[in-house]
Amino acid sequence: MRKLIVFAAAAILVGSVLLAAKTHVPKIAAEKIRQHVKYLSSDALEGRGTGQKGGDLAADYIAAQFKSYGLKPAGENGTYFQSVPLVGVKTLPETTFALVPANGEPLVLRNLDDFVTSNETQTANAEIDAPIVFVGYGIAAPEEKWDDYKGYDLKGKVALLFVNEPISDDPNFFKGKALTYNGRWTYKYEETARRGAVATLIIHRTDLASYGWEVVRNSWGGERSYLKLDGTPKLEAASWIQEEVARKLVGMAGLDLDKLFQQAQSREFKPIELPVRLKAHVVSALRPFSSRNVLGMVEGDYNSDRRAEAVLYTAHYDHFGIDKNKPGDNIYHGAIDNGTGCGILLEIARAWGATKAELPRSALFAAVTAEEQGLLGSEFLGKHSLELPVDPILDLNYDALAPIGIPEEVEVNGAERMTFYPTVEKIAGEFGLAIRPDAQPEAGHYYRSDHFSLSRVGIPSFSIGQGRKFKGHDLAWGEAQAKDYVDNHYHKPADAFREDWNFAGLGKMASFGYALGQAAAAQSEDIRWLPGDEFEKAWQKYQSGAVDTDALFAGHPDLKMVHFESILYPPLARQTRISGTVIAHVSVTSDGHVSEAKATKGHPLLVGAVEQPIKNWVFVPGVERSFEFRCDFDLAFEVTGSARRRSIVVEPLHLRVVAEPAMVETNTAGSRNH
Ligand SMILES: [Zn+2]
Repeated sequence: MRKLIVFAAAAILVGSVLLAAKTHVPKIAAEKIRQHVKYLSSDALEGRGTGQKGGDLAADYIAAQFKSYGLKPAGENGTYFQSVPLVGVKTLPETTFALVPANGEPLVLRNLDDFVTSNETQTANAEIDAPIVFVGYGIAAPEEKWDDYKGYDLKGKVALLFVNEPISDDPNFFKGKALTYNGRWTYKYEETARRGAVATLIIHRTDLASYGWEVVRNSWGGERSYLKLDGTPKLEAASWIQEEVARKLVGMAGLDLDKLFQQAQSREFKPIELPVRLKAHVVSALRPFSSRNVLGMVEGDYNSDRRAEAVLYTAHYDHFGIDKNKPGDNIYHGAIDNGTGCGILLEIARAWGATKAELPRSALFAAVTAEEQGLLGSEFLGKHSLELPVDPILDLNYDALAPIGIPEEVEVNGAERMTFYPTVEKIAGEFGLAIRPDAQPEAGHYYRSDHFSLSRVGIPSFSIGQGRKFKGHDLAWGEAQAKDYVDNHYHKPADAFREDWNFAGLGKMASFGYALGQAAAAQSEDIRWLPGDEFEKAWQKYQSGAVDTDALFAGHPDLKMVHFESILYPPLARQTRISGTVIAHVSVTSDGHVSEAKATKGHPLLVGAVEQPIKNWVFVPGVERSFEFRCDFDLAFEVTGSARRRSIVVEPLHLRVVAEPAMVETNTAGSRNH
C-alpha cells in the first residue's frame, strides 16, 4: 500500500513537470510540412537523385531552411554541409567466374544467371584464384556464444556461406524468430572481409533471403554505390550464387548441400575447406562522385556540462532521380519516401530553433544522402561522428510516413532495446499513441533504415513510424492503405504529391518526436542499450570516445575495463576559471565494481567531477585491487569538439581534461537572455 502512495506521488510530480515543459512547446505547424513535401517532390527537384542536380537542389533547400530557423551550421568549415565521397561500381559483362575442382572439369558460371558480383575494393580489374571454404553462416557473435570460424584463417580465401542465421525459436538465442544483424547479407560481406577473404559467395535460397533470385539479379545487375575507400576491409568479389550452383559446387567435393545446412545449425560447426578453387576475373566500370549530408544544430544551455551531447534527428532526402529511358512520368518524386521525413525533420528543427537554449543537451539535425544506395550518407555520418561539433546520444529517424490521417499507433522498433524506452512509452501514452510491435521481426527491418548506421557505431537509435490504425478508420483500412502504397507507389514515379493529403497526422508524429527529443535532452542519465544487446559493446566504445582505456590502464592487466564513464569539466569551475589536479584513491571489489573513489588532493570544485564518474566504472572481476588516479583540469580557449573528445591520456592512470572557459556568448543560439 505504501508503495502505491509513493508511486502516485511520483506520478503527480512527473505530470506537473511535463505540464510545465509543455507550456514551452512551440506549435508544430502541419501545413509547413505540406509545403516542404510539395516542393521536395516537385518536378523541379527531379527526384532528388544522389549525385544529380535535383539532389543538390534539395540539399541547398534544406540548408536554407536550417539557416532561416537560426540553426548553427554543423558541417565542414562553418557550413551546413558534410561532403560524402562516393564511387559507383558497375560489374561489366566480360566478368568471368569458374569453379575449378582439384580433379575434373571446371564449371564455368554465367554472369547474372548463376551469380552476381561486385568489386567492393573499387578497382577496375581483379584476378582471383583462391580456395573456397564453407563457413556455415559466417557468424562470429560472442554475445550468442557463437563462432563459425573457430580460429580458421580466411586470409586470401573465398568464403562460401548461407544468408540468415541459425534457426531459433528461443528468444534468448539469436532473438528467436527475429533477425539479428548477423543474419543480414551486408554483415556476411563485412565479417568475411574483416577476416581477410578476397571473395564471398552467399548461397541464395529464396526462403532464407525472403526474396527470389530476380530481386538479387535486378539489384546487382546495375551500378552499385559505395563510400569511397576509407580503410575498411573490402571484398574483390562480393557475390551471390544460385542454390543449384552451390549444390554443384559442394558436390564437386563429394558433399551434400542439405547436410551442410544441417551442420551449420550447430555451435560445434567448423569451417570446411573444399578441394575447389574460384577462378574469377572481375571487370568493373568506376564512377567517383560526391554528395552531401546537411547538418544544423541548436546548442544546449551554455553552462551545462552536457551541452556537448546532442539529440540527433535524421531523415534521408535522396531518392532515385530521373529514369531517362522511361516514357511518361519518369521522375521518381519520392513524396512519401522521403519528402515526408524531411518535412517532419525541418518542422522539428524550426520548433527547436524557436526555443532558447535552456536544455542541458543540444540538438543536431541531419538530412542525409544516398540512403537508397545502401544507407551510405548515414554510414558516413556515423563513421565520422568524432568530427561533429557535438556527440549524438540518441538518434530519432523518420523515413516515409504517409499523410493519410491521424495515427493512433506509433512504430518505434528497437526502442524497447534501450534504457529510454519507459520515456517513449510514457510520451506515446500522452499522445494517445499505442505502440505497435514489429509485425515481421524475421525480416530485420531494423537493419534497413538510416538509424541503423548510427546504432552500429553505438548510438541508441530508432525510426518513428505510423502504425496501421488511423482515427475514424478500422485496422483493415490502414492495412489496405499500406498495401496500396507498397504495390503501386513504393520506389515508383507514382510516389507523387497529392493535394488531398491530410498532414495533421504528420504534425502529430513531429510533435511526438519533438517531445521525445526534449525529454532526452533534459534527462540527466545516459541513454544506453540494455545489457546484452548486440550494440552494447559498440556503445561502450563510443562512450569512451577518444579516451583510449587500453592506454589509460596499460601495464595494469588487473584493471581491464568493462564500463567507462567520461570525466567532464565542471561548469562552475569553467565559469570561475578554476583549473588544477585531482588525485584520487580508487578501490575495486572482486566483482569489478568501484567501492570507493576518494580524492586525496584537489580543488573542491573539481573533486566531485572525478569521484562521481569513477564510481560508475566497472573492471573485469578478479581480486580486490586499488590504485591512485590522477586527473589534470586545464582551461584553454579555442577548444573544439565535445567533452567526450577533450580527455587525453597523458600516461597510464593519468588523464587530462581540457575545456574552454565559460564566458558570455555573443551568438544568439547560445544566448541566455529571456
Ligand atoms: Zn526511405
